[in-house]
Amino acid sequence: MTNLRWGLVGASTIAAQHMIDAFRANDGEVVAVMSTNADRAAKFAHEHRIARATTSLDDLAQSNDVDAVYISTTNELHRDQVFAAAKAGKHVLCEKPLALTLGDARAMVAECHARGVILGTNHHLRNAATHRAMRDAIHAGRIGKPLFARVFHAVYLPTHLQSWRIEKPEAGGGVVMDITVHDADTLRFVLDDEPLAVSAMTSHGGMSRAGLEDGVMGVPRFSNGLLAQFHDAFTTRYAATGFEVHGELGSLIGRDCMTQAPKGDVLLRSAAGEEGLKISHENLYARSVRLFGDAIAGRGAPSASGEDGVKSLSVAVATLEAARSGAETAIDLKV
Ligand code: NDP
Repeated sequence: MTNLRWGLVGASTIAAQHMIDAFRANDGEVVAVMSTNADRAAKFAHEHRIARATTSLDDLAQSNDVDAVYISTTNELHRDQVFAAAKAGKHVLCEKPLALTLGDARAMVAECHARGVILGTNHHLRNAATHRAMRDAIHAGRIGKPLFARVFHAVYLPTHLQSWRIEKPEAGGGVVMDITVHDADTLRFVLDDEPLAVSAMTSHGGMSRAGLEDGVMGVPRFSNGLLAQFHDAFTTRYAATGFEVHGELGSLIGRDCMTQAPKGDVLLRSAAGEEGLKISHENLYARSVRLFGDAIAGRGAPSASGEDGVKSLSVAVATLEAARSGAETAIDLKV
């Protein structure tokens, strides 16, 4: 379906900075925004040229002029909001993590399936040209059997986002639910394999409230024997991001690619020398929205489906458990 008419649940930063533009770039229309605060809803609607503002989820979900709902509220709210949208027969693009528990995330997938609506999880990094080029190179056998992967995703949480992510466990705060869940999804996508177990340790670097981690290092083990490594943080002002896969015949070195912007590059190193992969950058969020619209029209699946949202959440849940228990923890991939 083209020209989707969108209803936004959440007057959020991600909607303002990326998603409204992505909807419009796909000839979509943003017809309404819902916020729990009437003034914020009205201000957001005015600033972003959205015709209608409401504080009622049901009003937004049940509107006849809404085809699809985009949910970008804090994480503990996603479940009930997806249920409300699906019940009203609306397709749903939901932010990550899908939910705080695997039970809730699985219920969201089942509900959307039962209602016959598409559920997508907005794991934007699958849409990065860098990650797609690495996946293609692995499929083409250019590094032989992949043995190791490394994800460098330690960043500095911008001041304007230093709120629920570092203060509210009940809202799904913490770096694991925020960033590790993206690493998990990107590893699953690039490697085209599933992780079976993970070991991890978390840290508190002085930004997050006691009880919430703001740094983590972890090692997931994939079904083909590959070991991956991830490093995520809110506290590193000067670190660079990257994604590497090392195989028997070559290494893929992605730089500056764990980001929201369409940028970064990938170097292939092998016996033949060094070669920069050809990368055709495209706005990550616009591509996510395009594939979501295609899925509604019966052409393929969203770039990250609801099932992907569950599986990537399962890595985050197991990572937290591994850090808590100090033991390698099985990843429950059931959807
Ligand atoms: P924000 O903190 O910007 O917004 C979350 C909620 O906080 C909003 O729904 C809003 O509630 C409330 N809020 C916003 N501004 C204010 C304010 N000034 N005062 C009080 N409350 C306010 O969150 P993000 O946009 O950073 O994240 C939203 C969701 O998107 C999360 O699930 C996050 O994990 C995900 N995300 C995904 C990204 C991706 O690349 N896929 C990137 C960033 C975030 P209300 O709706 O009631 O107004």
